[in-house]
Amino acid sequence: MNPNIKALTPDELSDWLRTHDEPGYRAKQILQWIFHKGAASFEEMSDLSKRLRALLADSFSILRPEVVRLARSADGTSKFLLALEDGSHIESVLIPAERSERLTLCISSQVGCGMGCAFCATATLGLKRNLRSFEIVDQVLEARRALASGAAGDPQHPTITNIVFMGMGEPLHNYDAVVQAIGVLGAEWGVGFSPRRITVSTVGLVPQMKRLLEDTRVNLAVSLSAADDEVRGRLMPVNRKYPLAALAAACRALPLPRRKRITFEYVMLRGRNDSLEDARRLGILLRGIPSKVNLIPFNPFPHSGFAPTARPAIEAFREALLRQGIHATVRESRGRDIQAACGQLAAAELPAA
Ligand code: SAH
Repeated sequence: MNPNIKALTPDELSDWLRTHDEPGYRAKQILQWIFHKGAASFEEMSDLSKRLRALLADSFSILRPEVVRLARSADGTSKFLLALEDGSHIESVLIPAERSERLTLCISSQVGCGMGCAFCATATLGLKRNLRSFEIVDQVLEARRALASGAAGDPQHPTITNIVFMGMGEPLHNYDAVVQAIGVLGAEWGVGFSPRRITVSTVGLVPQMKRLLEDTRVNLAVSLSAADDEVRGRLMPVNRKYPLAALAAACRALPLPRRKRITFEYVMLRGRNDSLEDARRLGILLRGIPSKVNLIPFNPFPHSGFAPTARPAIEAFREALLRQGIHATVRESRGRDIQAACGQLAAAELPAA
């Protein structure tokens, strides 16, 4: 099997072209065929010479991940189980908004995850490996293909409007590939997707957070899930390396464009982090940070040992935040029936329905 052409950067492809007596600028033309137009073969690239097409076909392949399973939830959410070249599995989720045209694609950045959050199904896999940049971008291409063929989506949600790095893995633990993928997604010759409609979610890897906002123009979300070091340390081992004071100080110092806010995700776990006292502490922690809080009802998975906070208690928690002047919303869980909701991605091959 020839090497996958998607693994090459534009510069690498330009160099390769020049050593084969072709002008380097054709690199962007070729990559545009692949990433923008979704070409599956070199023959399709009708504005390239026959010679070049043959040369490319002799040297490279355009490998795609295999869609092993496309599950559809009763609420319209679709989950893709993808098999990569080495047989690893990852998941992405396509989530149509109920009352708007917004269609969000949630993508993975790693196979498994090494962060060990106690309430997350992906953590039970451990970290298998980082995704390569093109494997991140491929998730977008496959979702677009499924939309175009009618295998996913619906007439009210024809195109992907938002991309969130909230699938499997810790994106800032795979920093270079994630930033490279954001570049390909944003490039004119790439997918052509504005970084302003991309959100990267992190457990709070402090040094990389600042770098990300310097290197890209994406939105940042931070998974907090506790405003007390002892509680957070038990739920999220990363807190031992970057405790709340360091995390909050970093957030205050981030180079945020004006009017931008950081989203803080907070998984509501019954009896662990959901009291009104917890809400008060959270309000104090976020003082002076341009923030919005996203409360996520806990999505159960087998043997998690956690239970979801009851709805009225989530509402009371939200109101306590609002009273402190903190903007807070509740994230409605989508795709729970197909194990596609937050924290449920474990790339398990479910028996065929
Ligand atoms: N590693 C990154 C990207 C994953 S985002 C991060 O943690 O931010 C996944 C989001 O789902 C995180 O905000 C996480 O806190 C949340 N989550 C994890 N497990 C969950 C569960 N079982 N129920 C609800 N939300 C969960």
